[in-house]
Amino acid sequence: MNNKKTSSISASLNNDNVTFQQNGSPFSQQFDDIYFDTQFGYGQSEDVFIKGNDIADRLLTNEQALVIGETGFGTGLNFFLTLNHFMKAKAIHQQSIKPLTYISVEKYPLSGEQIEQSLSLFPEFSPIVAEFIAQYRQRNIEASTLELSFFDGLVQLVLIFDDATQGFEKLTSNVKQAKHQNKRLTSPINAWYLDGFSPAKNPEMWNDDLFKQLARLSKDDATLATFTVAGLVKRGLINVGFRLSQTEAIGRKNKSISAKYQQNRNAGKGYVLRPHHVKPTRVAVIGSGIAAASLVYKLTKENIRVNLYCQDEHLAQGGSSNAIGAVYPLLHQDRDDISDFYHQAFVCALGFYQSLTDEGINYPHQWCGVLDLAFKPALVERLKRFDDINAWPKDIIHSIDAKQASEIAGIPIEHDGLYMPKAGWVAPQKLVKAIFQAADDTGFLKVKTSCHITKLTQVANGHWRLHHNNKVDNAEQVIMCGGAQSNLIAPFDELPLYPVRGQISSMYTNNDIGKLSTVICHKGYLTPENDGIHCIGATFDKDERNIEVREQDDLYNLTMYQRSLPNFPKWTTNDIKASKARLRCMTPDHMPIAGPMPKTDEYYQHYQHLEKDKNWSINTPAPYYENLFVMSGLGARGLCSAPLLADIIVADICGTPYPVDSKMRFNLAPNRFAIKDIIKGKFK
Ligand code: SAM
Repeated sequence: MNNKKTSSISASLNNDNVTFQQNGSPFSQQFDDIYFDTQFGYGQSEDVFIKGNDIADRLLTNEQALVIGETGFGTGLNFFLTLNHFMKAKAIHQQSIKPLTYISVEKYPLSGEQIEQSLSLFPEFSPIVAEFIAQYRQRNIEASTLELSFFDGLVQLVLIFDDATQGFEKLTSNVKQAKHQNKRLTSPINAWYLDGFSPAKNPEMWNDDLFKQLARLSKDDATLATFTVAGLVKRGLINVGFRLSQTEAIGRKNKSISAKYQQNRNAGKGYVLRPHHVKPTRVAVIGSGIAAASLVYKLTKENIRVNLYCQDEHLAQGGSSNAIGAVYPLLHQDRDDISDFYHQAFVCALGFYQSLTDEGINYPHQWCGVLDLAFKPALVERLKRFDDINAWPKDIIHSIDAKQASEIAGIPIEHDGLYMPKAGWVAPQKLVKAIFQAADDTGFLKVKTSCHITKLTQVANGHWRLHHNNKVDNAEQVIMCGGAQSNLIAPFDELPLYPVRGQISSMYTNNDIGKLSTVICHKGYLTPENDGIHCIGATFDKDERNIEVREQDDLYNLTMYQRSLPNFPKWTTNDIKASKARLRCMTPDHMPIAGPMPKTDEYYQHYQHLEKDKNWSINTPAPYYENLFVMSGLGARGLCSAPLLADIIVADICGTPYPVDSKMRFNLAPNRFAIKDIIKGKFK
């Protein structure tokens, strides 16, 4: 029997097409498919939908009120799993917990008894299932929508008894549409659970009209998860603007899809409005520092072949060649764009470096914390504001007094300060070489040293030619990671990057300073001992390209150290083992750049209306050089920022979800300078 045409009338009754299998789980005769996989309890549903949408973390961080949309409520298992995480988050956040809205469209509803019987497999949910059943039973049988409420209205469950496409058509997040077209008003959806039997067994539901509804109702950066990896679903989602990644899941269908809606439709900046492109098989990366290393490593993990062009005889000879470098985030007392970026970048960097260690990749490092000393009155004031505003997790940064600082440092300290317990130092050159070695071990990397790229030319099919040493190489795509050399060749010379010379002095350790057990930041910085030396620095000379070592710069580093830390063991120039000057690459707004290379000349023609209205919504694709990307401007913070920036470029190249939201993407996009200049009336 096929009851596909019975619609909401059957909401009252047992769904005749459902039987219960020997293990007690429900099975649809109509679709010849299971409601949920029981091989690992409810593990697969948890893996695919909850993990695939990062629901547990999003509820725990409690940053936004979640609105979840689902196709196929079925037994409600996904809803109860979600509630389970909501309850955990509520126990932590109590009254300040953000409300949750769960909208599910179900064409063939189960009866209360069937739901109860199905979920008796999971007794841990029984109290909340009982509360649900009590409300569910009281529904008006003819009603096409049912609204249930839990936890004093903190959770709203909206059940729409209809076909998925038609059910979602009835919703809008536009107030005018709600009024004039008699639609139900909802906040945009920020997470989707696409359930609903497999496309092979239920082709009716999985259609382009449904995908259009999902896109229409999605908030920017809305996530989506589904157990199916069918081509028609993947293509349909990509066509309406989702970026997909395939993930492993437990259970019988062991692959699933996680996706993000990242069309930046509402931000209106236009920088990501461009066609989805095909993942390349071979790319060229220019550069050999931490930016290039992080990127190359992640590209090779995606099975993309990389030709690496390094202008020097050996890798990591630029900014990444220093003996010791501190890894810590730049955090202001308030959550602003810069701090938000460095916070996320720092968490990503720690994860990346830990994963290298877990893989057996060795490099000298110590996660010994970084102590940012309040060595002058203005900084003491800043400490108080940090405490008052309390914008960051305590395990990322917190204030400490001089006594605690002394204990942490192992040397008496007379200043209070900010402490970043998870931060520390690495030996950058050794780290970068180890990362390249690991990428090389995949067999996907070809390193070309002493290869100075002098020119890039694009050919008719959109690919690129790299000119070097009187030779020409071809590449499908090129990514510039050349640090301060990045903007020395066209078209990267259109970017407002500038070099800043910095000299670091490596000092011999001794019995006193050798006790230092954390990185110290003052006006400059001081690292604990590694290989018999400590690093102090650094000088800061804007627009200087000369990298010869200067005696006066060593004196500057020593003076800065002694003035900021007058009680610390003294050093003289005789204690200098070595000095090195290198260039950092900076941007005017002190944020790095990562993304496709803009055709700057064409921006004014497309976006001049921004001069009059900075909120003008752009809906024409932003002008970019096809297949050309840039990751640069990392300043002195590349060890912290490179892994996240690499993830952004990899997502861009592979069409997978960006790891940052649309606002942050704009803050990092290489075309932001052109757009901001037009807004400020500076573009000529
Ligand atoms: N999320 C459910 C759970 O946790 O029990 C599992 C759902 S089951 C795999 C698929 C559900 O999709 C069924 O309840 C089925 O009735 C529903 N369904 C099938 N076709 C549909 C359609 N076109 N529109 C809405 N719901 C549909």
